[in-house]
Amino acid sequence: MDYLLTEEQLMLKDMVSKYAAEKIAPVASENERNHRYPAEIINELSELGMLGIYFPDEYGGSGMDFVSYTIAIEEISRHCASTGVIISAHTSLVCDPIFRFGTEEQKQKYLPDLLSGNKIGSFTLTEAGAGSDAGATQTTAKLVDDKWVLNGAKLFATNGKEAETFVLLASTDLSQKTRGISAFIVEKDTPGLSIGKLEKKLGIRCSSTAEIILEDVTIPKENMLGELNKGFKVAMVTLDGGRLGIASQALGIAKASIEDAVKYAKERIQFGRPIADLQAIQWMIADMKTEDDAAKLLVWSAATMKDKGLVYSTESAIAKLKASEVASFCANKCVQIHGGYGYTEDFNAERYLRDAKITEIYEGTSEVQRLVIARAMLK
Ligand SMILES: Cc1cc2nc3c(=O)[nH]c(=O)nc-3n(C[C@H](O)[C@H](O)[C@H](O)COP(=O)(O)OP(=O)(O)OC[C@H]3O[C@@H](n4cnc5c(N)ncnc54)[C@H](O)[C@@H]3O)c2cc1C
Repeated sequence: MDYLLTEEQLMLKDMVSKYAAEKIAPVASENERNHRYPAEIINELSELGMLGIYFPDEYGGSGMDFVSYTIAIEEISRHCASTGVIISAHTSLVCDPIFRFGTEEQKQKYLPDLLSGNKIGSFTLTEAGAGSDAGATQTTAKLVDDKWVLNGAKLFATNGKEAETFVLLASTDLSQKTRGISAFIVEKDTPGLSIGKLEKKLGIRCSSTAEIILEDVTIPKENMLGELNKGFKVAMVTLDGGRLGIASQALGIAKASIEDAVKYAKERIQFGRPIADLQAIQWMIADMKTEDDAAKLLVWSAATMKDKGLVYSTESAIAKLKASEVASFCANKCVQIHGGYGYTEDFNAERYLRDAKITEIYEGTSEVQRLVIARAMLK
């Protein structure tokens, strides 16, 4: 499949792949077991320009394309899916909307610190009563003395604990539901903003998932991102790109599952020969590889559409739906091929299975992706 990549993309793939194998792989399981945020790795990846891969040099980005970004997230997630989502949420869900919808002043103020990794970003759309139904947002933003005053609670914010810059969605007109939502840039040290519950999760345990509490959080009027009451569009456009970040994370988990399954199948002896000689095992590996290749083509195709400036919302939903279900399929088969050992912490297979599941849920569940695809087909 690499024949589809340019020389520059191949060089990036090689660089990230070597870094991840050398620096991320040895510590991934232990970090995950200890719910430890991989600060040192994030710092090193920042130095390598991996926190602003596809943004222009003028704001401190690495000036590469979006396909390169998907490759980097896959290679990183191949060893640690938590690190993959930390970077993906930061890049796709915070840097991207500020770059796309921000005023020149906002871009100059926020992007250099975010793209260099000096500051981490977190995107907060979800609330207790507003998950798939994001229009049910109850957090409010009211204009008081020419400043926005935010009240409410956001849930499940990836990077919420570490972030210094939030892109936050709040209702500026509750009666209008999706048409009354606006987006804001909120800085962590603003009085009234606090971190609430930190979720204990099935997987991706190195990344924080936090509640963000807002009590009379007062921010300058100019911190609105995009237009008044057009925040739902900001969120949806942002999630189009974000879904490809998650799809790439899923590709990384699938790749890891295939590589580990192949290795184990060649090493494990039963009935006097490697289990790789058994057709039952061979077919599982063949199915994993076939599904993974199909998913990768969908992800790279949608990413290429984004690079070309084409409308890619449906293709992004298709790629995310397929890649996330392939990640779960491959991780499940990986555990199966490892037999009882796959169910223990002695091997990475169980981590892949736990990590894969979330890719079917966040940034729109598989059901929501099907809804998006079906709506496009039936309109
Ligand atoms: C680890 C983690 C990290 C996250 N990170 C972030 C983040 O950084 N920022 C953020 O804003 N959010 C984040 N989320 C939230 C995530 O995007 C939501 O959990 C997800 O969108 C689903 O919403 P929900 O949990 O409320 O489920 P619900 O919307 O309550 O869904 C429950 C079930 O009903 C189904 N369902 C709901 N509506 C429909 C429908 N119309 N048609 C068919 N089926 C439907 C769903 O598919 C699901 O199976 C994160 C969540 C987790 C667990």
